[in-house]
Amino acid sequence: MPSARIPSEFDELRALLLTSEVFEPGQQEYKTQSLPWSRHAEQNPKLVVQPTTLERLQEVVKFLYISDLDFAIRNTGTGSVSASDVLVSMHGFKSFAFDEASESIIVGAGLDWGEVDKLMEIQALGYAAVGARCPWVGVTGSTLVGGLSWLSHQYGMISDPQNLLDAQVVLGDGKLVWAAKDEEDLMWALRGGGGNFGVVTALKFRVRPYPEKIFGGILFIPYSSLHEVSKGVAAMAARTADPRIAMHVMNQGPGMGMPDQGSKPNIALMLFDAHGETHARSESGFAWAFSTTGAQEISAGIMSLQQMHALTETFRDYQGGNIFWLTAPLLEGKLDDMALVRVWKWYEDTIKSYPGFGDGSTVLLEFMQENAFNSSPSRTSTAWPHSGHRHVMQVVVGCKTSGSSIPDIKEKAHARLAAVMPEVAGDKATKEYHAGFLNEFNHVSEVYGENYERLREVKKRYDPQNRFNRGVDLVAGKVTEDMTV
Ligand SMILES: Cc1cc2nc3c(=O)[nH]c(=O)nc-3n(C[C@H](O)[C@H](O)[C@H](O)COP(=O)(O)OP(=O)(O)OC[C@H]3O[C@@H](n4cnc5c(N)ncnc54)[C@H](O)[C@@H]3O)c2cc1C
Repeated sequence: MPSARIPSEFDELRALLLTSEVFEPGQQEYKTQSLPWSRHAEQNPKLVVQPTTLERLQEVVKFLYISDLDFAIRNTGTGSVSASDVLVSMHGFKSFAFDEASESIIVGAGLDWGEVDKLMEIQALGYAAVGARCPWVGVTGSTLVGGLSWLSHQYGMISDPQNLLDAQVVLGDGKLVWAAKDEEDLMWALRGGGGNFGVVTALKFRVRPYPEKIFGGILFIPYSSLHEVSKGVAAMAARTADPRIAMHVMNQGPGMGMPDQGSKPNIALMLFDAHGETHARSESGFAWAFSTTGAQEISAGIMSLQQMHALTETFRDYQGGNIFWLTAPLLEGKLDDMALVRVWKWYEDTIKSYPGFGDGSTVLLEFMQENAFNSSPSRTSTAWPHSGHRHVMQVVVGCKTSGSSIPDIKEKAHARLAAVMPEVAGDKATKEYHAGFLNEFNHVSEVYGENYERLREVKKRYDPQNRFNRGVDLVAGKVTEDMTV
């Protein structure tokens, strides 16, 4: 007699969901809901599930928590999350509600910031959220690692207490909580602690009255003007503390959705000025940049925040196309005249160090005003401690997926990433790294500093089995292989 088939844990999981909420390999939706930003992180999950009600999500989380299955929670995949057994897609949670009286929004954990931008323009015109600058970045993943916005220069990080007001979370046992009122430690840990405490289903943010139009745009400047730009950036860092102006300085090249320009790439400046165009073109704004030798304006002018964010839209196509590793050390606020020259030198040396690195590597100096890291009451107010005037030195080492051995290039890429801080900051090197871009060479105890022990204690309380374990493993005290790209 044929023996009856023993239901597997996958069958049990399927039984908790509607057929339309389960995606198998081969289905288009499986691909869309599992593609990581960087291909090296891909673990080809056996199932992707997308619960569309809180009740079913609670059942799924409760089941997965006590199962033997390897699982992870995913929103957009920008953080390169994957799992070998089950990915839980949060795209069933895309609600949005604006409350004018309290100047706040409650957003579903499955939204990305581009979707929030569009909903704000329809339902909350005249207000702005402190949200990420790239439209495809997920609201939850970015918030859990602190999160940076064009508005951070005025209002601080996305997860600072004055911006992130509350979070709805499904805990490992399936219980649903709003953290701010009853789970104070959990709320604290969600503010930059990297996640891994439960499944966030909704976030409540403060929004602020904000100009409907700002000045934004991109300037291209030739490589031959590098020293001039480096001096200009240093002078601006010394001069202005205006919280309504900010800037990104990056190389033109393939990592930025532009043609490869070899080891001596031109410079792209992304400018932001919420005072408007006259101010942006004045000496108090970016007159120095517009008058730099060879500067060429690309889509610079008056635009909405949504349009400003959309300027980075071309990067979206990079998802799943290449292998990337990122790091983002923090540089001290005062920059010397040669700081950018050293950044370019790091880039040149990096792409010369391995032939494939020309295809996706990039440097991006996020020029920050003092408020960005200095707006929460103290370094212990949020899980990721931050204070002082800092700039974010974000760098990417990228490579095409074909024809290279991943462990080999990973070693080379990590060596170059670890060298950014000493090579760019020299004797002014800090030990500070943005919690959103950590690698195995980072020391978790240093990243979380004085908050590390409390964070570990909260982790043990909310996830005693360490079942939420992507990226930063607080139990083992290390960054695991599949951390954000
Ligand atoms: C090109 C690029 C541009 C970026 N620009 C910005 C920027 O402007 N500002 C900024 O702040 N950051 C930016 N980031 C960093 C970004 O915030 C992180 O990569 C973040 O992890 C992305 O979150 P996600 O939810 O979109 O990605 P995912 O890969 O889906 O998730 C990332 C992590 O969050 C966890 N997670 C996701 N959803 C949930 C949930 N509902 N509950 C619990 N855990 C969850 C996942 O398990 C995973 O560990 C950028 C990154 C890249 C690659």
